[in-house]
Amino acid sequence: MTRIAFLGLGRMGLPMALNLARGGHQVRAFDIDARTREAAAAEGLDVADSIAEAVKGAEAAISMVPTGRHVIELFTGEGGVLSLLAPGALVIDSSTIEVANARKLHAAGRERGIEVLDAPVSGGVMGAQAGTLTFMVGGEEATLEKARPILSAMGRNIFHAGEAGSGQAAKICNNLLAGISMIAVSEAFTLGERLGLAPEKLQQIVAVSTGGCFSLTNYPPVPGLVPNVPSSRGYVNGFASQLMLKDLRLAEGAALETGSSLPLGGLASALYSVFCQSGRGDLDYSAVIKLIAGEAPPAAKA
Ligand code: NAD
Repeated sequence: MTRIAFLGLGRMGLPMALNLARGGHQVRAFDIDARTREAAAAEGLDVADSIAEAVKGAEAAISMVPTGRHVIELFTGEGGVLSLLAPGALVIDSSTIEVANARKLHAAGRERGIEVLDAPVSGGVMGAQAGTLTFMVGGEEATLEKARPILSAMGRNIFHAGEAGSGQAAKICNNLLAGISMIAVSEAFTLGERLGLAPEKLQQIVAVSTGGCFSLTNYPPVPGLVPNVPSSRGYVNGFASQLMLKDLRLAEGAALETGSSLPLGGLASALYSVFCQSGRGDLDYSAVIKLIAGEAPPAAKA
């Protein structure tokens, strides 16, 4: 049992914190948004009124907040979490952020004698609820071993990706691939349909041919091919297109810093940007097939 401060109780954070509490850990949680705090308390979570109250006496702090700016402010700003934790405590940031900001957090932790892991996740809200997330962890291997009982209460696959920032590097590369492949699969289904090919036939054939991939087989953008994936339930409550756009922009930023070129990543980012600006950023990222198929956004239909 570990005394854990959980910070950020949004779509991912709340179910993750609930799984930690169910797993026998002593969790005190906090979110800057009062309504989110109320919703979390209604779920039975022990919710504090301030960061300081949540962090008091904690052996570990976990964050699940939107961006790198939020993470740096939360931990290193005035009255931030690093100044409140005792030396020897553990910090796990599971938000998806820039590699550079993850490394900044590691360095700030080291200065205070606090061990830090960057541990972004894959698996989405459903994985967070089911406790089956994949964690991609950057930092010292010994620190990961300390954190393993905490991470395994929230996830199933826990990978040590490498040194500080490597978890974020793995996450950014994964989502770069997922974003590009979803657009490619959308193009194939749209063209196939216009050539008179039934989508289930195309899926069946390509799944065992050279074009097969996760976006086609397990998470297709066409409704009705796989039960319960976002496309089969109106593209809601999935991995929002605006979050995919955020992650593609993280990849572009990383490419700029490392002198890499991402021609398809840049194009994918531009397409998701247009899709989000059409008012459909809340839809799951597989809904990008609507853009590829030329489907107008709802407001423009009338
Ligand atoms: P969300 O917007 O639903 O929740 C984030 C929460 O953080 C909000 O409730 C916000 O009020 C809170 N917050 C912001 N600043 C804070 C602070 N200083 N202290 C305490 N709380 C603060 O976002 P989400 O969907 O839960 O995603 C969180 C992170 O996880 C993001 O980095 C996202 O990219 C990543 N992620 C999301 C998914 C997904 O499917 N939603 C999947 C994988 C990774």
